[in-house]
Amino acid sequence: MAIQGIIFDMDGTLIDSKLDFNQMRADMNLAADAPILETIEAYTGERRAECERVLRQHEARGVEQATVFPGIPELVTYADSLGLRMAIVTRNLIEFAEPMLEMLPVEFSPIIGREQGPIKPDPWALLHICEIWGTKPAQAVMAGDYKFDLEAGRNAGCPTLWFSQKRNPGHSSWHDLADYTLEDNFAGGKLLDQILADHAD
Ligand SMILES: [Mg+2]
Repeated sequence: MAIQGIIFDMDGTLIDSKLDFNQMRADMNLAADAPILETIEAYTGERRAECERVLRQHEARGVEQATVFPGIPELVTYADSLGLRMAIVTRNLIEFAEPMLEMLPVEFSPIIGREQGPIKPDPWALLHICEIWGTKPAQAVMAGDYKFDLEAGRNAGCPTLWFSQKRNPGHSSWHDLADYTLEDNFAGGKLLDQILADHAD
């Protein structure tokens, strides 16, 4: 079944927004291993409002500091030249995601942020994109750097591509959720060729 497009996670995959999640948790008085969005979601009233303020401050700073990972402009340009569609599913807010994505030389459509629906690992956004594209999930690669991306991909039925960014020397059980692993972004074109060949009609 021919691959029609790639659904990318943004932070840590295409864009290095340099968000310091440990500092974020400390500023919010959260436990060291607490999942930030899910924990805030469970709060109410002033506690929740305060956490959301801290989160926005960190995310706004992230936009200022953001850089594109080396090799990513080349990779997305190559994908574009192959006629692949590209979309974004981020746990960030659209208003922060859009200016960061403008640093890249291709169009992403649609861009789905956390305010639009259930967040990864829920497959909602991925299935929504496939519906807009008119493709089956098996024809859209889900690419990301973290377990939520791979879990969402698996939950949706998309082939999964893990961008290791050479940042994860140890092996975690969630790495097994990756159908493909990209260690070096500059080798992304070659891996893309392989994924397309594996899924050719
Ligand atoms: Mg990420």
